[in-house]
Amino acid sequence: MTTLPDRLLTILRDFARSREGTFVVLSGAGISAESGIPTFRGKEGYWVVGSREYMPEEMATFAMFSRRPDEVWAWYLYRRGVCHGAEPNAGHQAVVKLEELLGDRFLLITQNVDGLHLRAGNSPERTYQIHGNIDFMRCATECGAPIAKLPELPLKPKGEGLTETERAALRCPGCGGLGRPHVLWFDEYYDEEHFRFHSSLRAAVAATVLVVVGTSGATNLPMQVGHAALEAGATIVDINPEPNPFSTLASRADRGFFLQGPSSEYLPLLAEAIAGGGGA
Ligand SMILES: [Zn+2]
Repeated sequence: MTTLPDRLLTILRDFARSREGTFVVLSGAGISAESGIPTFRGKEGYWVVGSREYMPEEMATFAMFSRRPDEVWAWYLYRRGVCHGAEPNAGHQAVVKLEELLGDRFLLITQNVDGLHLRAGNSPERTYQIHGNIDFMRCATECGAPIAKLPELPLKPKGEGLTETERAALRCPGCGGLGRPHVLWFDEYYDEEHFRFHSSLRAAVAATVLVVVGTSGATNLPMQVGHAALEAGATIVDINPEPNPFSTLASRADRGFFLQGPSSEYLPLLAEAIAGGGGA
């Protein structure tokens, strides 16, 4: 049976009782993999244009969008369909429970663009989607129109090109120009306006407890968040089936824990521990 270390249980109950400090969850692809969503960085993310097969690292770029916006949109609409077909799992539900228990002492920073945290019930105010959300679009020419939710569209089969209906639905609602997926591409940089870069770092520095779930630290900002929390003396909990840079980070913290296993089992235990301490 999956259990938490006694020392961690004590820390979490004390944290809940103290009514001070913040609890930050940093989540990555692993939590959604347990809902059946692939990372799209392997074969499932390949896309054929003409006679050539493109890798996800080529598709998810502003350079590709500039040359072939229709193909990039078709790829994202296909991926969006896969995300819509998945349901939040017990791990996502536990993160919702944590927000309910802790209120404004809680913050979620997620690398996932699948929208499952919001669908599970976390609030948009306390969910920083640092890589964007596949359900949203914004103006490709930055006309100033706000980020908009994509309209409902029929499910897109893999490999199908963009239809006229879709092309029309994906115009910027502000200027009528080209809209683009509201995601961070490989050849783009984090910023505060779209991805809450500075807010995420600030939250990490102020964190009393940082829980890292299902991320391997391959990208820059999550690792900065981890290091900031470590330097600030936070309790660091890494939940992952495999050892990774965050489990190494946790091993360097005075109060660090590596919970090796599925997040759908460990996250509910964290929420129980916080509830046992009295919550907010
Ligand atoms: Zn516009």
